[in-house]
Amino acid sequence: MEGLSGDSAIDSDEHKVPLRLADNFYSSIDILYFDLRHFSKNLVAVSVNVKILRLNKAGIPVSWLTREEAATLLVKEQVMWSLGKVVAELYGGYNNSGIQSVLRLPSIVACEGQVHNAKYNAPLDNRFLFRRDRNICLYCGKTFHSRDLSRDHVTPVSRGGLNAWTNVVSSCRRCNNRKADRTPEEAGMELLAVPFAPNQYEFLYLSNHNVLADQMDFLSARFSHQLKE
Ligand SMILES: [Zn+2]
Repeated sequence: MEGLSGDSAIDSDEHKVPLRLADNFYSSIDILYFDLRHFSKNLVAVSVNVKILRLNKAGIPVSWLTREEAATLLVKEQVMWSLGKVVAELYGGYNNSGIQSVLRLPSIVACEGQVHNAKYNAPLDNRFLFRRDRNICLYCGKTFHSRDLSRDHVTPVSRGGLNAWTNVVSSCRRCNNRKADRTPEEAGMELLAVPFAPNQYEFLYLSNHNVLADQMDFLSARFSHQLKE
């Protein structure tokens, strides 16, 4: 291979990272593998943790896919259209003419499937909550490591407050203790931001620490709140 440094003359399989795909995958293409040499040479530096954004056919983002899941959908021809840059190339077997099969994974794929029109409910989890609040305690305004933050119910649950996105904020332990079983007004503590429930676009951003630039462009166009690293 051109442009390689080191002992590229030795053709070992060390650079080949095999994929484990769905069982019925191999009927259409031979075993696929990531070729790390191509990976480093032809592609922008992409983390191995890169995820592919899956949209439904209405163009609404629904989930993150691993490269293996995205490859399976592509090979099964369940991808209707795609967007964004190629984030990985997968190499398969050679056909009779000696041409190697290559599968290119785009960063965004739209797939068949049911489109649900029900109102979106982002799952409430501290990982996503702290990320929504940018790891800032919404009472004292200081930044904390996630392990030093807690979920504060603005209106305490004991007072009828809901365990819902619009009633919870990130709070450091000190502020949480100080506030205790009171509303911010009763405790004389001011909330620095109004808690909001993330929409589907915002939630997908919150649930992936490795969002690529073109995926971010797609998602952030529909952000309705301030969400930044
Ligand atoms: Zn605090």
